[in-house]
Amino acid sequence: RQLPYFCRGEVVKGFGRGSRQLGVPTANFSEQVVESFPSDISTGIYYGWACVGNGDVHKMVLSIGWNPFYKNTKKSVETHIIHTFKEDFYGEILSIAIIGYIRPEKNFDSLEALISAIQEDIEEAKRQLDLPEHRKLKEDNFFHPPG
Ligand code: ADP
Ligand code: MG
Repeated sequence: RQLPYFCRGEVVKGFGRGSRQLGVPTANFSEQVVESFPSDISTGIYYGWACVGNGDVHKMVLSIGWNPFYKNTKKSVETHIIHTFKEDFYGEILSIAIIGYIRPEKNFDSLEALISAIQEDIEEAKRQLDLPEHRKLKEDNFFHPPG
Protein backbone atom coordinates (compact mmCIF):
# COMPACT_ATOMS: atom_id res chain seq x y z
CA ARG A 1 0.00 0.00 0.00
CA GLN A 2 0.95 3.70 0.04
CA LEU A 3 1.70 3.84 3.79
CA PRO A 4 3.78 5.10 5.44
CA TYR A 5 3.48 8.30 3.41
CA PHE A 6 5.91 11.15 4.19
CA CYS A 7 5.13 14.70 3.27
CA ARG A 8 5.88 18.27 4.23
CA GLY A 9 4.47 21.66 3.40
CA GLU A 10 3.39 25.04 4.66
CA VAL A 11 0.55 25.38 7.16
CA VAL A 12 -2.15 27.58 5.65
CA LYS A 13 -5.31 29.17 6.96
CA GLY A 14 -8.25 26.77 6.75
CA PHE A 15 -11.84 27.65 6.10
CA GLY A 16 -12.81 27.88 9.76
CA ARG A 17 -14.83 24.74 10.21
CA GLY A 18 -14.47 25.39 13.91
CA SER A 19 -11.96 22.66 14.70
CA ARG A 20 -10.44 24.86 17.34
CA GLN A 21 -13.81 25.44 18.99
CA LEU A 22 -14.11 21.64 19.30
CA GLY A 23 -10.75 21.61 21.07
CA VAL A 24 -8.99 19.99 18.12
CA PRO A 25 -7.29 22.61 15.95
CA THR A 26 -6.23 21.12 12.62
CA ALA A 27 -3.24 22.43 10.67
CA ASN A 28 -4.26 22.61 7.01
CA PHE A 29 -1.95 22.01 4.05
CA SER A 30 -2.13 24.13 0.91
CA GLU A 31 -3.94 22.94 -2.18
CA GLN A 32 -0.61 22.26 -3.93
CA VAL A 33 0.54 19.90 -1.18
CA VAL A 34 -2.81 18.10 -1.18
CA GLU A 35 -2.63 17.68 -4.97
CA SER A 36 0.75 15.97 -4.62
CA PHE A 37 -0.88 13.20 -2.52
CA PRO A 38 -1.56 9.84 -4.17
CA SER A 39 -4.94 10.43 -5.81
CA ASP A 40 -6.24 7.02 -4.75
CA ILE A 41 -5.56 7.52 -1.02
CA SER A 42 -8.86 6.92 0.83
CA THR A 43 -10.62 9.70 2.66
CA GLY A 44 -10.92 9.14 6.39
CA ILE A 45 -8.95 9.38 9.61
CA TYR A 46 -5.29 8.32 9.92
CA TYR A 47 -2.61 8.34 12.62
CA GLY A 48 1.07 9.15 12.40
CA TRP A 49 3.90 11.44 13.48
CA ALA A 50 4.25 15.18 12.92
CA CYS A 51 6.72 17.96 13.54
CA VAL A 52 6.56 21.73 13.07
CA GLY A 53 9.70 23.38 11.69
CA ASN A 54 12.61 21.60 13.31
CA GLY A 55 10.72 21.06 16.55
CA ASP A 56 9.99 17.81 18.38
CA VAL A 57 8.13 14.94 16.72
CA HIS A 58 4.64 14.38 18.18
CA LYS A 59 1.80 11.94 17.69
CA MET A 60 -0.96 13.14 15.39
CA VAL A 61 -4.32 12.26 13.91
CA LEU A 62 -5.02 13.31 10.35
CA SER A 63 -8.17 13.76 8.35
CA ILE A 64 -8.29 13.42 4.58
CA GLY A 65 -11.65 14.68 3.45
CA TRP A 66 -13.51 16.50 0.73
CA ASN A 67 -12.97 20.23 0.82
CA PRO A 68 -16.29 22.11 1.05
CA PHE A 69 -14.52 25.29 -0.11
CA TYR A 70 -14.12 23.69 -3.55
CA LYS A 71 -17.63 22.21 -3.56
CA ASN A 72 -16.13 18.86 -2.51
CA THR A 73 -14.23 18.45 -5.78
CA LYS A 74 -10.84 18.70 -4.04
CA LYS A 75 -9.48 17.01 -0.97
CA SER A 76 -8.34 18.67 2.23
CA VAL A 77 -5.66 17.31 4.53
CA GLU A 78 -5.77 18.44 8.16
CA THR A 79 -3.42 17.40 10.95
CA HIS A 80 -4.26 17.58 14.64
CA ILE A 81 -1.01 17.29 16.59
CA ILE A 82 -1.44 15.63 19.98
CA HIS A 83 0.50 18.30 21.83
CA THR A 84 -0.28 21.69 23.35
CA PHE A 85 1.50 24.51 21.52
CA LYS A 86 2.08 27.92 23.06
CA GLU A 87 1.39 29.68 19.78
CA ASP A 88 -0.18 29.13 16.38
CA PHE A 89 2.18 28.12 13.61
CA TYR A 90 0.60 29.37 10.38
CA GLY A 91 3.25 29.74 7.68
CA GLU A 92 5.57 27.17 9.24
CA ILE A 93 6.62 23.92 7.59
CA LEU A 94 4.75 20.88 8.88
CA SER A 95 6.34 17.47 8.30
CA ILE A 96 4.20 14.37 8.66
CA ALA A 97 4.50 10.61 8.37
CA ILE A 98 1.10 9.03 7.77
CA ILE A 99 1.31 5.52 9.15
CA GLY A 100 -2.08 3.86 9.50
CA TYR A 101 -5.77 4.14 8.82
CA ILE A 102 -8.32 4.43 11.64
CA ARG A 103 -11.75 4.80 10.00
CA PRO A 104 -13.67 6.27 7.09
CA GLU A 105 -15.25 9.74 7.16
CA LYS A 106 -18.61 9.77 8.84
CA ASN A 107 -21.48 12.14 9.42
CA PHE A 108 -22.52 12.54 13.02
CA ASP A 109 -26.00 13.13 14.40
CA SER A 110 -24.78 15.46 17.10
CA LEU A 111 -21.83 17.54 18.15
CA GLU A 112 -21.42 15.26 21.18
CA ALA A 113 -21.13 12.21 18.92
CA LEU A 114 -18.55 13.98 16.75
CA ILE A 115 -16.47 15.06 19.72
CA SER A 116 -16.49 11.60 21.29
CA ALA A 117 -15.47 10.01 17.96
CA ILE A 118 -12.52 12.43 17.77
CA GLN A 119 -11.51 11.56 21.32
CA GLU A 120 -11.63 7.85 20.42
CA ASP A 121 -9.53 8.51 17.30
CA ILE A 122 -6.93 10.29 19.45
CA GLU A 123 -6.83 7.37 21.94
CA GLU A 124 -6.50 4.86 19.10
CA ALA A 125 -3.67 6.90 17.55
CA LYS A 126 -1.82 7.02 20.88
CA ARG A 127 -2.15 3.22 21.31
CA GLN A 128 -1.04 2.42 17.76
CA LEU A 129 1.91 4.79 17.86
CA ASP A 130 3.20 3.19 21.07
CA LEU A 131 3.71 -0.11 19.20
CA PRO A 132 7.43 -0.65 18.52
CA GLU A 133 7.01 -0.91 14.72
CA HIS A 134 5.25 2.49 14.67
CA ARG A 135 7.36 4.14 17.36
CA LYS A 136 10.52 3.59 15.32
CA LEU A 137 9.23 5.87 12.53
CA LYS A 138 9.46 8.76 14.99
CA GLU A 139 13.24 8.46 14.65
CA ASP A 140 13.16 8.37 10.84
CA ASN A 141 15.74 10.46 8.99
CA PHE A 142 12.81 12.26 7.37
CA PHE A 143 12.35 14.10 10.68
CA HIS A 144 15.98 14.17 11.77
CA PRO A 145 18.14 14.74 8.70
CA PRO A 146 21.64 13.43 9.45
CA GLY A 147 24.43 15.98 9.59
P1 ADP B 1 -8.01 26.71 10.38
O1 ADP B 1 -9.42 26.66 9.84
O2 ADP B 1 -7.29 27.98 9.99
O3 ADP B 1 -7.22 25.48 10.00
P2 ADP B 1 -8.19 25.62 13.08
O4 ADP B 1 -9.25 25.95 14.07
O5 ADP B 1 -8.26 24.26 12.45
O6 ADP B 1 -8.17 26.76 11.99
O7 ADP B 1 -6.78 25.82 13.82
C1 ADP B 1 -5.61 25.42 13.16
C2 ADP B 1 -4.37 26.18 13.60
O8 ADP B 1 -4.19 26.06 15.02
C3 ADP B 1 -3.11 25.57 12.99
O9 ADP B 1 -2.84 26.11 11.70
C4 ADP B 1 -2.02 25.95 14.01
O10 ADP B 1 -1.44 27.20 13.67
C5 ADP B 1 -2.79 26.06 15.33
N1 ADP B 1 -2.58 24.94 16.27
C6 ADP B 1 -2.32 25.10 17.60
N2 ADP B 1 -2.18 23.93 18.22
C7 ADP B 1 -2.35 22.96 17.28
C8 ADP B 1 -2.32 21.52 17.32
N3 ADP B 1 -2.09 20.85 18.48
N4 ADP B 1 -2.52 20.83 16.16
C9 ADP B 1 -2.76 21.51 15.00
N5 ADP B 1 -2.81 22.86 14.90
C10 ADP B 1 -2.62 23.60 16.02
MG1 MG C 1 -7.92 23.50 10.38
